[in-house]
Amino acid sequence: MPDVRVRIAPSPSGYLHIGTARAALYNWLFARHNNGKFLLRIEDTDQARSSQEMVQVILDSLKWLGLESDEPAVYQSQRLDIHKNYVDKLLESGKAYRCWCEPEVLKQKQEQARKEKRNPRYDRACHNLPNEEKRKNIESGKPFAVRLHLPEGETTFDDAIVGEVTRKHEDLDDFIIARSDGRAVYNMAVVVDDHEMEISHVIRGNDHISNTFKQVLIYDGLGLQKPKFAHIPLILGKNKAKMSKRDGAAGVTDYAKMGYLKEAVINFIALLGWSPGDDREVMSLEEMTEAFSLERINPANAVFDMEKLTWMNGEYIRRTEDYKLVDLLRPFLVEAGLVTQLFINSRWDYMVKFVGLLKDRCRLLSDFASQGIYFFTDEFDYEEKGVRKHFAAPEVLDRLRQWHNILEGIDPFNIEQLESSLRGLAEKLQIKPAMLIHPTRLAISGTTKGPSLFAMMELLSKEKCLARIKRAIGFVSVNNGN
Ligand code: GLU
Repeated sequence: MPDVRVRIAPSPSGYLHIGTARAALYNWLFARHNNGKFLLRIEDTDQARSSQEMVQVILDSLKWLGLESDEPAVYQSQRLDIHKNYVDKLLESGKAYRCWCEPEVLKQKQEQARKEKRNPRYDRACHNLPNEEKRKNIESGKPFAVRLHLPEGETTFDDAIVGEVTRKHEDLDDFIIARSDGRAVYNMAVVVDDHEMEISHVIRGNDHISNTFKQVLIYDGLGLQKPKFAHIPLILGKNKAKMSKRDGAAGVTDYAKMGYLKEAVINFIALLGWSPGDDREVMSLEEMTEAFSLERINPANAVFDMEKLTWMNGEYIRRTEDYKLVDLLRPFLVEAGLVTQLFINSRWDYMVKFVGLLKDRCRLLSDFASQGIYFFTDEFDYEEKGVRKHFAAPEVLDRLRQWHNILEGIDPFNIEQLESSLRGLAEKLQIKPAMLIHPTRLAISGTTKGPSLFAMMELLSKEKCLARIKRAIGFVSVNNGN
């Protein structure tokens, strides 16, 4: 195999789509597996639609995913003269020709052909002009487009994923490779840039297959060696149609904002069309790099299942060390107004323990904020359902009072002491421990679900637990009209 050099070539559109992220990952894995290089080309020739901010989104997204280019990014818009040189080469060699046809005339001809049920392809009017006329047009400086002169026959390429694909030239046109303003069209620019960047394998979405025929024809016209093509399947939404916003068709950085870990996103998108050949699902980047090959990409379209991504994210949360999670959680907790950065820095041990208590229950980083409110504030409401279930019985008030008295005397205030004291009280009252555990949980956290009650109480501290039980006693006595 020649030196592996692969690239992604996104057009800046304001976000990095999940499909482009997956193409980036497959290219990156292929490069790493083969000790090659992974490159980035920004296809920003559409000035009206490209801006530095949009380019920045691509760079930021790739950085977040950890899929950065091994060489400085190539900007297509800075290479217009180079594209033109190659167009000129094709003109000089006679593989391409100038076309002075007015767009309206072309349109009329096409309509006429359609009416007469003929193939509306270009009739080569300009190719067939007498030489004298061509010379006159050139000398007068009349603007022209450039068309590739297609030979008879068909074009075939052997795709590493899709297999051999062929298109008859009669289904194609002498297509335009440069517009009358002198700029190369998309397919021409791609060939020139891929050639000059010495790209060995073009791995991209299979919506580009029809472009590939044109690109192969341009390579052949220029007499250049073609890269190996590998067209990866599309990603569909759950209803097997094009992915919509509801299916999770967001930009990559939106996943970060929603609370997904980059490792989970990477792992999940890797499996959208590729598999390691066994039933492994949660895989590290190293494992994926080791196992990656184009042959193991399934040509059938992949389905994006957001539920699975969320499940996988939970798996990654559990595998991430607690102190690392604290750092990852910073923006979520701060944005929810639960803590300040200063609080996190100065109460580091508390934060690490908080994460340790909740991590089994969270599937998104944002879940820590929504489920962990009571770790950071005393001002929470009691869940209504919980109030009806655990605060309503007439005995609750007395039980809470007794429990409060016992709590006051617990020292050290730790899991073991708390547990044995609660069990002791339950025995004395001749009730099941759950009859105390549930109201206590509601009093301490405002919710009916959460991590181990005693661990939670130990972390919150004796002082806070006493204050919260007291608050609950006040609430219950008003609520129950005592
Ligand atoms: N700019 C194209 C896109 O964003 C690049 C396709 C390619 O990889 O050649 O789809």
